[in-house]
Amino acid sequence: MRIVDVSERTIEISRYADPSIPAGGLTTSIVAVVVDGTPSGRTIGHGFASVGRFGQGGLIRERFGRRLLDADRAQLVTEDGLGLDPMRAWAAMMSGEKPGGHGERCVAVGALDMALWDAGAKIAGVPLYRLLADRLGREVSAAPIRVYASGGYPYPADDLTRLADEIRSFRDLGFVEAKIKIGRAPLVEDLRRIETAAEALGGPEGLAVDAMNAYDAGTAPEAAAGLAPLGLRWFEDICDPLDFATQAAVTDRYGPPVAAGEALFSDREAALLDEYGGLRRGHDYLVFDPVHCYGLPGYLRIIERMTATGWPRTSFWPHGSHLFALHLVAALGLGGAEVTPSAFHPFHGPPAALPVSAGTIPLPEAPGIGWELHPEAWRELRALSSCS
Ligand code: MG
Repeated sequence: MRIVDVSERTIEISRYADPSIPAGGLTTSIVAVVVDGTPSGRTIGHGFASVGRFGQGGLIRERFGRRLLDADRAQLVTEDGLGLDPMRAWAAMMSGEKPGGHGERCVAVGALDMALWDAGAKIAGVPLYRLLADRLGREVSAAPIRVYASGGYPYPADDLTRLADEIRSFRDLGFVEAKIKIGRAPLVEDLRRIETAAEALGGPEGLAVDAMNAYDAGTAPEAAAGLAPLGLRWFEDICDPLDFATQAAVTDRYGPPVAAGEALFSDREAALLDEYGGLRRGHDYLVFDPVHCYGLPGYLRIIERMTATGWPRTSFWPHGSHLFALHLVAALGLGGAEVTPSAFHPFHGPPAALPVSAGTIPLPEAPGIGWELHPEAWRELRALSSCS
């Protein structure tokens, strides 16, 4: 068994259903990894670099994809010699890398790691959540998992009307919980957005807000004081991800849950958040992105570290809105996942094959991640591998 081709393409993704609305030029990498010498001859795994950190083509082509192509059979196969072992392949990708200095190499590695797990589960002929649960010795159920609808980016015109329409569309799709963005406008305007969204959703208790790291030591206390009486689901990405002093000052005075971790990429950073960020175990939420944290091996290290200090697994709600996360939530016993119905085409969700009902989504049952169940994503991914 050898990896004989690694393809990457950087594509634009918009934060809006209407891609003509400027979204800051956001991009992501889609990848295909071709594994030769599998029981069916060749198996192709697909992945992408999640959302929020731009394309990673240079790192994938020049470093991490190259190491996969150079890996020999012993660095790739499972113990019984029959399957692809993504953990071993990950170790080959990370060969020669020093600790620290995460930059965005973790995102490049995470994109390829997703494709490796897709290929590994396809070779085993099972959906990824089953492969993962078997690999980790965990009991797993095929029951639907909890999800929330994420979006609510500020519109350049008719913001409140369009926001209300967007939230109502989430409810029509079967969601009962949602998340919107705040932090870029004066607090009084954000409070109007929150009121509008909560009304469209049917109450504030299912509504989370994401400040996208906009506040600092000077502005966070006022925002926290304004939001605290609303009883929101959670208050996410309050300040710079490494400003643990401001994070802790907020949790000291803000009673409802907060959410943090999306822009921290290693288990060491997670440990610092846990030690100095003032988060309350079992009360607050952890939104690390499994792709941005060096993929599954890195994410598992974070879960191991945090659960060892008393965090319940149900506090983890992975960022990113990708089918990959649905498998992780099921196999690892996490709280639930983010889904973006109106943003990040072609990876928006849910696909019609996985209809949301009462805030839960069925698991993809196709072998691998199940990209074939998502027509728009599959069209892009398949075109990538057929070019290789
Ligand atoms: Mg966020």
